Amino acid sequence: MGSLTGKTALVTGGSRGIGRAIAERLGREGALVAVHYGRKAAAAEEVVGAIREAGGTAFAARAELGTGDDVETLWAEFDRKVLEHGGSAGLDILVNNAGIAPRSQLEDTTPETFDEVFAVNVRAPFFLVQQGLKRLRDGGRIVNVSSGATRIAQPDIIAYSMTKGAIDTFSLTLAKAVGSRGITVNSVAPGIIGTDMNASWLRGNKAAEQSAAELSALGRVGRPGDVADIVSFLASDDARWVTGQVIDATGGSQL
Ligand code: NAP
Repeated sequence: MGSLTGKTALVTGGSRGIGRAIAERLGREGALVAVHYGRKAAAAEEVVGAIREAGGTAFAARAELGTGDDVETLWAEFDRKVLEHGGSAGLDILVNNAGIAPRSQLEDTTPETFDEVFAVNVRAPFFLVQQGLKRLRDGGRIVNVSSGATRIAQPDIIAYSMTKGAIDTFSLTLAKAVGSRGITVNSVAPGIIGTDMNASWLRGNKAAEQSAAELSALGRVGRPGDVADIVSFLASDDARWVTGQVIDATGGSQL
């Protein structure tokens, strides 16, 4: 029996990177996991396969976030597939992880880029929660993936950093709004993690990797599993008395 046996979880952006590690970890803990993705169906199916191989249950659910009826599409697919995969209607854990990080300073940021990053990183989780609360069972968990960029100023991702500031305020305020139902809401704020999001400047670049590692008190670049383990804790009963918080998951960056 894992700590999440009998629970159902939805992980947005569960097909790659940090979301993949979260989906696999929640699956190992016994949750039925909905692995959401936007475009890369094969990647999502690979995660579903990995969870099943490890003895868990999972299914993939597609919706391109930031587009017109993204949230309705995702919940409709979730509602249908959760029953097909032996779950009961509703869920216990919602992890808002999907995100994009356009590298763009103030002077280079177009209104289109600004709107897109806010649509995917802020509007989508907001309305996913709004329409998901009737599905989320009492005692449920919402975990929003934020960023260390809310604490450590990075001018080259200014609009992105602002979206994560909004997410932290969402976690704080929502925690108060839903607390009477025993639902907790927290943000987890990773530092630099070696995922596709950072591939363009980090992957295969020894010098960049070295300076990224030096930011952390622990002297290395973060791994998706470093974040997934924290999310798994927040999703568990052990974290029932933690809500409205931002958990720093930067490996002590820039202390
Ligand atoms: P990633 O490797 O680029 O993966 C992004 C995931 O989000 C993919 O599963 C992708 O699915 C999904 N996604 C992106 N845009 C989408 C859209 N419009 N609609 C639907 N799905 C979408 O990213 P990551 O590094 O794992 O980051 C995950 C989260 O952690 C993000 O919120 C990010 O801001 C945060 N974070 C990351 C770092 C880091 O250093 N990597 C640091 C701090 C915070 P498809 O490919 O199928 O579209």
